[in-house]
Amino acid sequence: MRFVSFEKNGQLAVGSLVPDENCVINLTGVGLPDDLNTIVEMGQKGLDMAETAAQTGERIALSEIKILAPFPRPRRNIICVGKNYFEHSKEFEKSGFDSTSGGQTIPDAPVIFTKAPTSVTGPGESIPASSDPSHSTDYEGELAVVIGRTGRNVSKDEAFNYVCGYTVINDVTARNLQQLHKQWFLGKSLDGFCPMGPCFVTSDEIEDVTSLNVSTWVNGELRQKACVKDLIFNIPTIIETVSSLLTIIPGDIIATGTPAGVGIGFTPPKFLQPGDKVVIEIDHIGVLENTVT
Ligand code: MG
Repeated sequence: MRFVSFEKNGQLAVGSLVPDENCVINLTGVGLPDDLNTIVEMGQKGLDMAETAAQTGERIALSEIKILAPFPRPRRNIICVGKNYFEHSKEFEKSGFDSTSGGQTIPDAPVIFTKAPTSVTGPGESIPASSDPSHSTDYEGELAVVIGRTGRNVSKDEAFNYVCGYTVINDVTARNLQQLHKQWFLGKSLDGFCPMGPCFVTSDEIEDVTSLNVSTWVNGELRQKACVKDLIFNIPTIIETVSSLLTIIPGDIIATGTPAGVGIGFTPPKFLQPGDKVVIEIDHIGVLENTVT
């Protein structure tokens, strides 16, 4: 199923996107919670209830609703992986903005940081570069994995059993703050610095996630394109690493890293400017569009 969270007449709801018909089926209107976090926490039962509800739910045209981030307020910080594509890791090191590498271009263990839940914003919302006091706002198109089961010490072999689906994230970053604070949380957690969506696609809809391409355009210019199979640390390795130290819970969102082609990969850097349009597409998941203000 392709879940969306949406608002209509001030009411929140969860729906099933029907792209061919430009509409959503309102699942909340037939008894499901208005919060996708809760549905994911219900596990397979929640997904089964959604399938049943989709048979009878009202169809609403996309023009009548506002699509929100699928998880407008995650339960806890978004877990992110830094420097997880070879070419991006090289461009980041070369840019001089990475104050944490210790001279190591390719990390020998996953680089994990988080973004605050309040950074999440929806498709079509603005990326508020004007609120970045360091005037160095950059984009990072990324595949995000959504966890569907509680787990600890999850092995690589078992890892995909803990994934319930995927979405698209823009890990927007204030580069000068990332460098200044020598820790990435602040520079990546400004309000509005985590556009997400448009939908949450359940795992059963994705035959082979490693075959998906992640592409980013700024003002129509292709800046990033890479395949998920090119991750340095693949999805099972990320889940094994994180869950070896802390319990992963349903609704956890893991942004898997960004390909080469971010703004600081250029000389001089191409930071986002008001009016810029950023479009991120991941095959079979969707297109996330935001305009910079
Ligand atoms: Mg990132």
